[in-house]
Amino acid sequence: MTIGIIGGGASGMAAALAAAEAHTAQVVLLERQSRLGRKLQATGNGRCNLTNLHAAEGGYHGDQPDFSRYALETFGPEETLSWFRKLGLFTTAEDSGRVYPYSDQANSVVDVLRFALEKPNIRVKLGFEVQRGRKTAEGFLVEGGGERLCFDRLIVACGGLAGTKLGGGMSGYQLLRSLGHKCTRLRPALVQLKTGWSGVVGLKGVRANCRAQILRNGDPFSESEGELQFTEYGLSGPVIFEISRDVCREPGEWVCRLDFIPHVSREELISALTARRETPLPAGELLTGILHNRLGRVLTQAAGVGLNRPAAQLDRGDLARVAEAVKAFEVSLTEPMGMDSAQVTAGGIVTREFCDRTMESRLVPGLYACGEVLDVDGDCGGYNLQWAWSSGRLAGLSAGRKDT
Ligand SMILES: Cc1cc2nc3c(=O)[nH]c(=O)nc-3n(C[C@H](O)[C@H](O)[C@H](O)COP(=O)(O)OP(=O)(O)OC[C@H]3O[C@@H](n4cnc5c(N)ncnc54)[C@H](O)[C@@H]3O)c2cc1C
Repeated sequence: MTIGIIGGGASGMAAALAAAEAHTAQVVLLERQSRLGRKLQATGNGRCNLTNLHAAEGGYHGDQPDFSRYALETFGPEETLSWFRKLGLFTTAEDSGRVYPYSDQANSVVDVLRFALEKPNIRVKLGFEVQRGRKTAEGFLVEGGGERLCFDRLIVACGGLAGTKLGGGMSGYQLLRSLGHKCTRLRPALVQLKTGWSGVVGLKGVRANCRAQILRNGDPFSESEGELQFTEYGLSGPVIFEISRDVCREPGEWVCRLDFIPHVSREELISALTARRETPLPAGELLTGILHNRLGRVLTQAAGVGLNRPAAQLDRGDLARVAEAVKAFEVSLTEPMGMDSAQVTAGGIVTREFCDRTMESRLVPGLYACGEVLDVDGDCGGYNLQWAWSSGRLAGLSAGRKDT
């Protein structure tokens, strides 16, 4: 039995290894780029956050939120880690549940997968871009670069549109649509948010822990706590990724309210600032020792307090305004960044057209899909790669086991 897998990313490699466990299977892994796992190599800022110990159905989104349940229950974080351990990868987990390779290098993950793929019944074809695929009486005919290949089973693991510079594209959606499947609206998720606030330019590169709350027309929309990063255009970092889904999709006034010191009350902060009045320091140093210096000065100015004024001259109203800026700083939002900056695609191929127990198409027997191409996207922190491993493995095992 021949099994063709389109896409040598996270889910495609997991599918290939699982399919090859069936000894009768001849697996061919087709990757359009010159190496396997190009996007995988860039994940987690080059560290690859390969799973999260808490990854379970509740951390995933899409039109059919429970579609991911079976794959995650049968091959969840624990099984994934012992699978990787067998492949030779040592890992380490943070308190948050995020798991990284012990080497702290995403390369290690790609390497152990690459080594494992060196099996007599797996052939890897790099630089092979599948342009067309169709069902025939015998199975599937796949075409690319002037070559035609025939398979009994076909697994589409082409990934999503996010991270376009790393290989994200429309290919998987187009292939599956040409085989009769439907696709939902695609949006960037786990993405930076742009702001109209010009002050952000001066904060480029500054990181801060905070509680971030998104408001739409003054009403709470989403909230999270964690690390924020200022960029040239707006707001980034895990705390923003976590709450970026569907922000600015509807018309309205969108605002991000930031509390830069969530575990300290306004009163405590005001009394700390009051102590600064006893010093000969200028107001520009009011928040020194509390926040990043650049951020402290921007917030003090935003509170309407001149940076050169002597701290000793500030009254309680001035200090209250500075404390307000620290605890509830509002930044207007205009739109999310595009797909090229997003970590994952929200939306994708309609999951109701696939069986959640096998990842096989309900419309085209022998056709499978896995990973980001499907309408499943996960929270920030290792959830998306976990979905790639879980769904890829399930698709590969099912394709390898299916009776002819
Ligand atoms: C910058 C960045 C950082 C990220 N960090 C994390 C993280 O730390 N943790 C986490 O859980 N998730 C992270 N993600 C998300 C995660 O990388 C993806 O969700 C995951 O890689 C999806 O796996 P996949 O197999 O579906 O697709 P991919 O890994 O994208 O693989 C798809 C492969 O298919 C190939 N392909 C596409 N079309 C064709 C074709 N027609 N013919 C042949 N080959 C084709 C592509 O070249 C690609 O190699 C990150 C994403 C980005 C962009």
